[in-house]
Amino acid sequence: MIKLGRNDRCWCESGKKYKNCHLGRDKAAPYSSGEAHRLLKTFTNTSKCSVPEKLRKECNSRIVKAHTLSKGNSLKSIAHEGHVLGIKHGLGGLEKNKGRIVLERIGINQASTFTGFCSHHDKELFSSIEDRPFVESREQCTMLAYRPLIREIYVKEANYKVMEESRNFDRGMSFPEQLEWARMSQINLKAAELSLQDLSHIKNKVEISIEERKYNVLNHFILRLIEPPKIMACGVHGPFVDINGKDIQNIDLDENVRPAYVAVNLIALDGKGYMIFSWLPEDDEVIMRFISSIQECPIDFIGDKLTKYTFTFFENIFCSEVWWEKIGGLQERVNEMMMQGVIMNIYNFSSIENDSNNYQAINVQSMTLLR
Ligand SMILES: [Zn+2]
Ligand SMILES: [Zn+2]
Repeated sequence: MIKLGRNDRCWCESGKKYKNCHLGRDKAAPYSSGEAHRLLKTFTNTSKCSVPEKLRKECNSRIVKAHTLSKGNSLKSIAHEGHVLGIKHGLGGLEKNKGRIVLERIGINQASTFTGFCSHHDKELFSSIEDRPFVESREQCTMLAYRPLIREIYVKEANYKVMEESRNFDRGMSFPEQLEWARMSQINLKAAELSLQDLSHIKNKVEISIEERKYNVLNHFILRLIEPPKIMACGVHGPFVDINGKDIQNIDLDENVRPAYVAVNLIALDGKGYMIFSWLPEDDEVIMRFISSIQECPIDFIGDKLTKYTFTFFENIFCSEVWWEKIGGLQERVNEMMMQGVIMNIYNFSSIENDSNNYQAINVQSMTLLR
């Protein structure tokens, strides 16, 4: 083994000198969970307006808790006594439930919010959806996709900072353990960095189209539902399977290949239910495989498949308490789906094809492809 001098760059690639980084780390006091929680809080409580640089001069100094799912349109329609069921965020929540994800009651003023817009932009940017009837226009569909996109970047940036700091969580570990920790940290940081690059690429294109008021850079697939869905969700992700669990793309840590992404909104607007998928035309090849699996599915089966898809891949998800009580024995299945989303690479979609569970959460009426 090469002996490092105190002033050499540390082996862990943090860029710091050895003496300020890993020297004597094995003898340092291990991280306490209190310290870890404080750290997590610092980074997940960021308040800022996420609009492009050019628009910052219009910003109001007040940063609001911006809803990613509209309170008036969506959350109210599934609320019971002002509450919905959802996943409380952060390490604290997971630890409390012994590493399991559990749906908890959340007030609709809090549900789906993030402090990522000032009061002016939260109101102005989304007025075409909040203040006007939904007519399935490109402008409205684009703005619906924009909100989860910004939230995804906001959350990923916070996670990135936490990951960077958590490099130091190897205090008190033996040298081989430190090596393993550093290796895992590098992989996680690289993955986070790549997905942030990908999301920024999409964000930039969408923002240009918003600025030019053209709203022409996304394709949309609109599912009209018979009634508002019992679960509401929005998010952006790179799907690797279609709704039948069939592979549609590999997602590797490769800087030269950007995975295809799709923004998803499962919402209510003007008392009607919709599930809307939005993506860049350059991602057509992969995303159309996903969309085709919906188009080709018998209409009565689509709802249950999409219910499973949503619980598996999205964490910004809320459901009706009344519905939850009604599904009874199926609750455990839903808990399993949510856990699959947490434990990377243990997705088990094989059960889906043979599953005749009737969730009654999403009932599809008709669909339109907007390209
Ligand atoms: Zn180091
Ligand atoms: Zn602003």
